[in-house]
Amino acid sequence: MTKSYEKNIDDLKFQIELGVSETISTKIREDRNKVNSLEINSNVENDSNELSEIKTLKDLQYFIENYDECELLETARSTVFCDGNVDAEIMLVGEAPGNQEDIEGKPFVGKSGQLLDKILETININRTNCYISNIIPWRPPGNRNPTAEEISMCLPFIKKHIELVNPKILLLVGSISSKSILNKNLGITKLRGEWHIYKEGNIEVPALPIFHPAYLLRRPNNKSYVMRDILLFKRKIQDMNLL
Ligand code: URA
Repeated sequence: MTKSYEKNIDDLKFQIELGVSETISTKIREDRNKVNSLEINSNVENDSNELSEIKTLKDLQYFIENYDECELLETARSTVFCDGNVDAEIMLVGEAPGNQEDIEGKPFVGKSGQLLDKILETININRTNCYISNIIPWRPPGNRNPTAEEISMCLPFIKKHIELVNPKILLLVGSISSKSILNKNLGITKLRGEWHIYKEGNIEVPALPIFHPAYLLRRPNNKSYVMRDILLFKRKIQDMNLL
């Protein structure tokens, strides 16, 4: 089996875990065809080769801004790359830009971002001492959830992003971010409230999933869970002398 084929199969297994079946069968067929026709230099392999060559955030941003394989580019106005302090040891990973983020080109600047800022402020975290990005750099139309295909297409970007930022701790904002980054087939209610380890290449850092602020805006009764989790986060960053 070729390396790219194996990687695609892994990605497909992950998609199955995420509960998608339609994309999978098409992609398996496409991948088999590629292997059958010995077209082994697939885009996936090219992209991951190119990504592995990237050594700076600036180059990663350039790479993502010039990536043209994702259908979200047909409707998105901006590539939303990051906000915050690039030297921070705390990194937040959200899901995907919404309308305001798409307009401003920055993550978490809309209503849910404002709520996130308020939550973080309670433990003295703000955009001067943390770094923020998303799994998906482009707004899904109408703020729909990203598809499993979009997630697996963009996952290598955020993994590279984490590698380059090299944070000491991760806060995973929302279900999609938590499941994808931790490669877990569990909902946010099961994942939150406990520490996990994000391990990829040379990176091994504690990661805490929390409810997405957009969910809290719809279900304010769940705010107490986030406050509990954010205190857990505070204790850890104190123990690690990060702030
Ligand atoms: N929701 C996210 O997950 N990320 C953003 O940047 C905005 C809203």
